[in-house]
Amino acid sequence: MIRTFAELDLDPILLEAIEEMGFSRPTEIQAQAIPQALDARDILASAPTGTGKTASFAIPAIQYLLDFPRKKAGPARILILTPTRELAMQVAEQATALAKYTRLKVATITGGVTYDSHASTLAETQDIVVATPGRLMEYIEAERFDCRAIEWLVLDEADRMLDLGFGPTVDRLSAECRWRKQTLLFSATLEGRGVEGFTADLLKEPAELEAQPSTRERKKITQWYHRADDAAHKLNLLKHILTEQAQRTIVFVKTRERLGELRQQLDSAQIPCSWIQGEMPQDRRNNAISRFRDGSVNVLLATDVAARGIDLPDVSHVINYDLPRSADIYLHRIGRTARAGKKGIAISIVEAHDQPMMDRVGRYTKETIKERFIDGMRPTHKKPVFKKKKAEKRRQEKSGEEKERREKEIIAPE
Ligand code: ADP
Ligand code: MG
Repeated sequence: MIRTFAELDLDPILLEAIEEMGFSRPTEIQAQAIPQALDARDILASAPTGTGKTASFAIPAIQYLLDFPRKKAGPARILILTPTRELAMQVAEQATALAKYTRLKVATITGGVTYDSHASTLAETQDIVVATPGRLMEYIEAERFDCRAIEWLVLDEADRMLDLGFGPTVDRLSAECRWRKQTLLFSATLEGRGVEGFTADLLKEPAELEAQPSTRERKKITQWYHRADDAAHKLNLLKHILTEQAQRTIVFVKTRERLGELRQQLDSAQIPCSWIQGEMPQDRRNNAISRFRDGSVNVLLATDVAARGIDLPDVSHVINYDLPRSADIYLHRIGRTARAGKKGIAISIVEAHDQPMMDRVGRYTKETIKERFIDGMRPTHKKPVFKKKKAEKRRQEKSGEEKERREKEIIAPE
């Protein structure tokens, strides 16, 4: 396994851009995927959010275009599909930065943009196009976009694309790009919702890659929890953390209803925040995210559904105001902080009934997550102790298979 970017046979102008972006060494998934992609293999890769999947396909794609330069002007050669507009913009931004010292052109085609502003994109020569499936399909149907020159098809956040119902559109786009040479699929997870069936038709003997970030990568998140006596105490703890400790924070809640409630409570407390939830019009989502991105607000409330796949820069704190349904989601959530070599803090606020889940998270992550106290806000009740039910324990001991599956499931943050 390679340990540095220099070991990859990359063009010096690409290496220089990588260095300028502050990437000192490849992440796990990059170390696995880049050599395979450069070796002309199809790729089926899964790695948790925040582990650098974008560069895992953008770097080899750019190298490929440098290795096989185009001979004459023409349509795009690399097509990257992403589930949402904001992801498309983020991917394009990163690809543009990586291609900084090349003459390659990167464009986006997404919904929420008028046809006029795409007209020149569609007319001019492009090398890499980052698109959302729906809008791209419209242009293909109107014969305004030509897929025949596509050599690489990249599907980013494939799980989320399926969740959003893009499966059939992606299949059609894949058929449109049938002359392509390589297909690369990246996803946070390959389990559930038919990702596997979906990939079977798209990929040819893919290299199957799965990355679990190294211990070095995951040590940077400091985790602790506070116990709360009741809902009011919980809110006070949150307000204290937001005003006294946290800088740029994502607060996770479990449902839209809970989000609405908390929004009003923070509003009354005059703590500015923006918020994203599932099933929100795209423009309002983008708006909320840009307010957080540009620092107009430092608190973003989110549900798990809404937050999937979004790379939010510089998050100092992740707060689990509601604990997630599973330890796996916990890891996804806290992976939002401590990105790109920065340190991060993850704080959970735990009511008595949440204690079993908090304990499970500790076992699952194999880390001791300690309780902390805030002066004047100590919980009055004792920490509840839940013993494992005997029957459950026996079942778990019996099923070694279950244990193995669980071990495989362990995904580290970042
Ligand atoms: P993913 O798609 O896996 O969720 P991204 O590609 O969005 O992750 O990358 C997450 C963050 O990590 C981005 O801010 C990116 O700039 C940064 N990053 C990517 N690769 C590296 C690297 N090798 N070293 C340091 N930071 C990196
Ligand atoms: Mg990504």
